Amino acid sequence: MAHILVIEDEADIRQVLEYNLRQAGHEVSVAERGEAGLALARQRRPDLVLLDLMLPDISGLDVCRTIKGDSHLRGTAVIMLTARGSEIDRVVGFELGADDYVTKPFSVRELLLRVQAVLRRSQGRSEDDASPVSFGRLRIDHGAHRAWVDGTEIPLTALEMKLLWTLYQRRGRVQSRGTLLDDVWEASPENNTRTVDTHVKRLREKLGAAGDYVETVRGVGYRFASDPGDGR
Ligand code: CA
Repeated sequence: MAHILVIEDEADIRQVLEYNLRQAGHEVSVAERGEAGLALARQRRPDLVLLDLMLPDISGLDVCRTIKGDSHLRGTAVIMLTARGSEIDRVVGFELGADDYVTKPFSVRELLLRVQAVLRRSQGRSEDDASPVSFGRLRIDHGAHRAWVDGTEIPLTALEMKLLWTLYQRRGRVQSRGTLLDDVWEASPENNTRTVDTHVKRLREKLGAAGDYVETVRGVGYRFASDPGDGR
């Protein structure tokens, strides 16, 4: 589920988008004008903006430029809704950092596929340029693929890093073995969930003094402590 902001002045298109995005499980905010859309985005950062280019007040291109230039809206993806044949708008839009475009009239199915693809991509990217994080004795620089415990670097395999980062990002929330298999190994849950246990065990050993941050939830799976004091 993502928070999606629709900025579109045509009521029927706005309603179609709002309805279908909600049906797809997303949280949707709507604005009819560019300035109002930017105000909403600043109140609560959307994961994705569906942006009409022909708006009554300011141009969609200006909205795009503002979003992409705003440090608080870093990580917000933009899909432009352009009129057929407006090649120039598309080119300028991409130069301004738009992530994709959909030409009107569009099929809802195609639009939803684009939305999913852009969300996947942008979520991956925002993790990649995340700055290093510190959690108690542990420090993770996911972008640089490095981790330290009490200042000493610990060598992690790509898989261990992915497991650690996935757990860390969902700290305080229990992750079942099946979920971890899905999200870290990208394997179907029929795969042996003991794989997860083996890797968590090895990860904990490598983390040493910080290993307790990865808690076992008996009968369910694992949970990264919600704060460093929780580790035991
Ligand atoms: Ca319009």
